[in-house]
Parts: sequence; structure tokens; C-alpha cells
Amino acid sequence: MEDCIFCKIVKKEIPAEMLQETPEAVIIKDIHPSAPVHYLAILKKHIPSIKDVGHKDEALLGHLIHEAKEGAKRLGLSGYKLVFNVGREGGQVIDHIHLHILGGWK
Ligand code: 5GP
Ligand code: ZN
Repeated sequence: MEDCIFCKIVKKEIPAEMLQETPEAVIIKDIHPSAPVHYLAILKKHIPSIKDVGHKDEALLGHLIHEAKEGAKRLGLSGYKLVFNVGREGGQVIDHIHLHILGGWK
């Protein structure tokens, strides 16, 4: 998607602090953290939100959760929250699927 900021990050047209990358997903540091540790697991495929996920995307979503778990481990988090904001009323601002990794509270 041309005007999508996360598509641009995935294509490296906009810089981001990258934690890890696979052919299907990236994990980047959130630019405005809402937790002591805040990263975003982003699918490379442009799917606007969880509402738009179809059966054909099930494996991709499983991969995203798996990558988020690996990222959390790499960050040394022993406990954390994984959050999808869904739709404007659910707090979603960027219409490209991403999973928040939140942690670092003592
Ligand atoms: P949402 O509210 O859509 O679930 O979350 C979007 C998240 O993306 C927010 O936590 C926000 O801080 C983050 N964000 C927005 N723009 C950028 C950016 O250009 N770079 C990075 N690294 N994070 C961003
Ligand atoms: Zn996108």
C-alpha cells in the first residue's frame, strides 16, 4: 500500500530500529513507547486489521505470534503483554496489522 507507514518501514523506505526480520514479518521498536519495553511485530503483508483476516492468513498470524515470542525472549522479557488494537474504537491508529509487545515493568 503506497501511503501506509508500516509498508514503508517493511520496505526500509522509512528507518526503524529493527529487532528481527523473517520473510513474513519484522519486529521494530515503537517510536512512542507506552511501556518500558515496547516493540511492534508487523506482518510484511498489508492486511489493515484483524477484522480483515481470512482463513488463508491463519498461518501468517501464527507466525507473527511466534516471532513476537522470540522477540520477547531476545529482549529478556520473562513476562509481557501481546496486544492487537482493532479498529478506531479499539485504539488502532495505523491500518496495517501489528502486534504490540509490551513489558519491562518491575
Ligand atoms: P496502534 O495504535 O495503531 O495499535 O499502534 C500504532 C503504534 O505505532 C503506536 O504505538 C505508535 O507509537 C507506533 N508508531 C507510529 N508511527 C511509527 C513510526 O514511524 N515508527 C515506529 N517505530 N513506530 C511508530
Ligand atoms: Zn501497509
